Amino acid sequence: DKQKNAVQALIDEFTISPELLKDIKNNFMEGMQKGLKKDGETLAMITSYVMGRLDGSEVGSYLALDVGGTNLRVVSVHLTGGGEISTRQTKYRIDEKLKVGDAKALFDFMAVCVDNFLDEHQIVVRGDTQIELGFTFSFPVLQTSINRGTLISWTKGFNAAGMVGKDPVAYLQDAFNRRHIPVRVAALVNDTVGTLLAHAYHHPDTVMGVILGTGCNGAYIEQISNIEKWKGDAAAKEMVINMEFGAFDKERTILPLTMFDNKMDRKSVNPNKQILEKMIAGMYLGEITRNVLLNLIDRRLLFEGHISPDLNQMWTFETAYMSTIEADASPTLHATRKILESTLSFPATSLNDRQIVKLVVELVGKRAARLSAAALAGILEHTGSWKQKSAIGIDGSLFEYYPSFDTDIMDGLEEVFGPVVRKNISIGLAQDGSGVGAALCALLAAKHSTSV
Ligand code: ADP
Repeated sequence: DKQKNAVQALIDEFTISPELLKDIKNNFMEGMQKGLKKDGETLAMITSYVMGRLDGSEVGSYLALDVGGTNLRVVSVHLTGGGEISTRQTKYRIDEKLKVGDAKALFDFMAVCVDNFLDEHQIVVRGDTQIELGFTFSFPVLQTSINRGTLISWTKGFNAAGMVGKDPVAYLQDAFNRRHIPVRVAALVNDTVGTLLAHAYHHPDTVMGVILGTGCNGAYIEQISNIEKWKGDAAAKEMVINMEFGAFDKERTILPLTMFDNKMDRKSVNPNKQILEKMIAGMYLGEITRNVLLNLIDRRLLFEGHISPDLNQMWTFETAYMSTIEADASPTLHATRKILESTLSFPATSLNDRQIVKLVVELVGKRAARLSAAALAGILEHTGSWKQKSAIGIDGSLFEYYPSFDTDIMDGLEEVFGPVVRKNISIGLAQDGSGVGAALCALLAAKHSTSV
């Protein structure tokens, strides 16, 4: 009975009603408008300097470097025209100490990875030519040109000293130059922008690129005439805007934060920042779930009040477990049992315990998907693109692996726009935005600068 009440209270707290979803969407649209007017607003609405569209006929060879999540990736991209692309890539793990250490060491590591990659793939550079590189650096950066910008803040567990206010491209180029690595950083790319371009290469009606991985964010195509703060030339009609929407609701006026969110936020490396991201993204969902489970355990409403030393540690409940638990349709919740008993070392769990764990997971996961839907709906309504055939490219393990994330998003969009949205909007997994997308961005950079 006490258990039932507790569960009902959780359902009430974590459910985003259709009305609330629409309120959040409206609030989000107001945030977009503010961010387009001036710098420094909650939604940064960063002008990416990416203008012009692709038609698949582009040719050339480029490098891409992707930094901003769990792994660092180096990719060589060969565009052969006719929409054909071949890529080769190597992943490198970024040591936790590097993420929060000296900035120069972090950028030196990036340069070394690129150097190793060139060796490994026997990419030889002739004479004094340089390979053009698209640098996907997925943090809030105020861009001042296609390959210049200053870091506004670190996110997603990164906090290397002395970088805020500095140009990440200058640091990377300097690291290349010191090692005589023949690479030129041609474009500074946000992963959302890369995702948009990579998806657009195959789907010309793409209007938006979204990341649902370690963090969350989106980019979309805006009319330059709508960007009041834009002081540059308006030769082109459109520009891609990197929204940095993970920062939404810094003021905490609309998102229904729970004590479990606040507890996680307090212990994060960036308390009070990235409020929406912390309710949506893969880095955080497991920890929120862990906080809810701990609370139920402390009230002796779960596992008879027993805790496991594993679950007692922060960040031990991985978001990937949530995908497994959501997908567990066995009558005994066998997969859920395995995670609890084998991975997290709980002694024997009851079916009732496992059902409660599954319910908590579903609440946290569905809330994340519906908040994503509110953001996407805000962009679709702002641009009007829900009214015609439009494609959205989404990248990230959360979107790729979490069961029903895509259908929950589409259900949320239907609540806002009605059934027509299912006909008009296609949501597709857009992998390799930070590889191919970054290369395409380097290519557009060259195109644009020759046309000036
Ligand atoms: P990144 O965003 O860092 O480039 P990913 O897209 O792989 O890389 O996202 C990694 C995030 O996705 C991690 O926070 C992790 O918790 C989450 N994740 C990894 N696997 C799964 C999964 N099977 N289900 C849900 N989330 C996952």
